[in-house]
Amino acid sequence: MHAIPELWAAAVNWLTIHAVVPVLVALHLARYVVDPPHEIAQYFLLTAIQVAIIACVFRPMESLWPVERWPDRHATLIDRAYTLLKLFGVLPLFTYLVLSPLTQWLGGAGAGDDPAGLLSVQGMLPWLGHHPVLLFLVYYALYDLVYYGIHRLQHSIPWWWALHSLHHSQRQLNCWSNDRDHYLDDLLEALIVALAALLIGVSPTDYALLVLSGELLQNLGHANVRLRFGPVLEKLLVDPHYHRLHHMRVDPDRPQLHYCNFAFIFPLWDIVFGTALFGEPARPTGVGDPMVDADNRRGIVGQQLYVLRRFWGAFRRRAGWRPGDVAFDEGYAPVPARDFDLHALEASQVPLAHAGAATRAVERP
Ligand SMILES: [Zn+2]
Ligand SMILES: [Zn+2]
Repeated sequence: MHAIPELWAAAVNWLTIHAVVPVLVALHLARYVVDPPHEIAQYFLLTAIQVAIIACVFRPMESLWPVERWPDRHATLIDRAYTLLKLFGVLPLFTYLVLSPLTQWLGGAGAGDDPAGLLSVQGMLPWLGHHPVLLFLVYYALYDLVYYGIHRLQHSIPWWWALHSLHHSQRQLNCWSNDRDHYLDDLLEALIVALAALLIGVSPTDYALLVLSGELLQNLGHANVRLRFGPVLEKLLVDPHYHRLHHMRVDPDRPQLHYCNFAFIFPLWDIVFGTALFGEPARPTGVGDPMVDADNRRGIVGQQLYVLRRFWGAFRRRAGWRPGDVAFDEGYAPVPARDFDLHALEASQVPLAHAGAATRAVERP
């Protein structure tokens, strides 16, 4: 039984010596990184395991038990690129070059494993300190509650929807879709969640465990897999069917139906706040708004730039701050969704294959 921890320590050690330290030195980054190199090596090993589970478990499940059968998986490729770019590039750069030094500079919980914070859970309920599993579950529930709150705002505030709608424009929702996000959206989310973690006093070790296990469940939640946890467990833990309903294309006959299932881990928060939807059959995923659906005609750089324009079109207008379900006009101004003929939009959607062909035609110099 001791073999696994020993093997893990040896792998971390090997990666630290042969990859992390030489790369930090070669890039002249060693002096800017406050975390010990073995922590960075540990991050990359855990991330490699996460990616291996997506590729070797969730992806084959999509072939064996798909919800939707697609003629090809062309539209999923960009999501895989988003995941690899974020997990092996953007996230470690942001965490080790910005977030960690900032946290240490602020002198918060990130500076060590000593849990402290203005609203420290352990400070308020000291007996929880003797029940580490229960304490971890409380952190998990609070972490998910913060995400739930952010997610409701991402759908309600038009400028935030302008960013988050990139995540929803995917019509082939798949096991790589969790990281298809705008980087500004990621940054806002990361800062709010990290601040919340500091306030409630989550230790860095618990925080890393929260993020990793939460991520894996969200990767599974996006998978195109006919998997349901059953009438009891589906109310305790988010399954792929539950999150697929959150991604449904607007139903012209029931335009409020898609405003559901915002929780990422515990459906409890949707049940408490009245946004849970169970028992509905899966519907096609994507968005009804053609300005947002146009994301499917672009690559990562194009998506990031156009979504930024969409964001700015909403952010600089008063309508961009008025809560409500919106679509965007040609000048990226948010327009209440009720002003659109949803049946006409549904009928006018371009098939994905044509959207891809249109992209290649447009992007050719
Ligand atoms: Zn959403
Ligand atoms: Zn999602």
